[in-house]
Amino acid sequence: MKQGKLILLHTCCGPCATASVERLLEDGWSVELFYSNSNIAPEDEYDKRLKGVIKTADYFGIEWSADEYDHEAWLQAVRGLENEPERGERCAVCFGYSFGRAAEKAAGGDYDGFTTTLSISPYKDSKLLYRKGAEAGGFIEYNFKKQNGYKRSIELSAAIGLYRQNYCGCEFSYAEMLERQRNKKHESEVNQGAGEDE
Ligand code: SF4
Repeated sequence: MKQGKLILLHTCCGPCATASVERLLEDGWSVELFYSNSNIAPEDEYDKRLKGVIKTADYFGIEWSADEYDHEAWLQAVRGLENEPERGERCAVCFGYSFGRAAEKAAGGDYDGFTTTLSISPYKDSKLLYRKGAEAGGFIEYNFKKQNGYKRSIELSAAIGLYRQNYCGCEFSYAEMLERQRNKKHESEVNQGAGEDE
């Protein structure tokens, strides 16, 4: 028999879960983590992030579960949107994909609803997350960025010893990250060259 209010937390990775869980516990929720991220590629990366989720669940003494990993199905869902930039239409479909899975699990259990750790990221648009959550059904709005949530997640990740990735999750965001790094390197080489000319 359930005691108190129970929320299913769609969890993208351990670092984003840390301060999100802390906030929910402070707000009186019982929390269960749900790792549902068929967007992540390659699979090694998916496994690495899952380890961080388990470590975080252990740290807080809470339950967790993982969804089936089906990157092929996810690729089908975003077909035609591969070249969209991060924060574009591909990401909206991506959120809808994972939230649909979380909503289904939440509706089939003893949960009062679900929310997502994604709202802690300064790179994610909370309004878009809310819209996709509402479409999935059973979504409880939480903006974990508030009250310095992101900063707190960095502190807690360091305390727990979590791996922190440097790209969002899919192969397209990985390619964007490499491009950003190349541009940055090129820019610093140009600046250095300009300095040497003076
Ligand atoms: S960039 Fe991130 S949110 Fe956007 S589609 Fe890729 S994994 Fe999903």
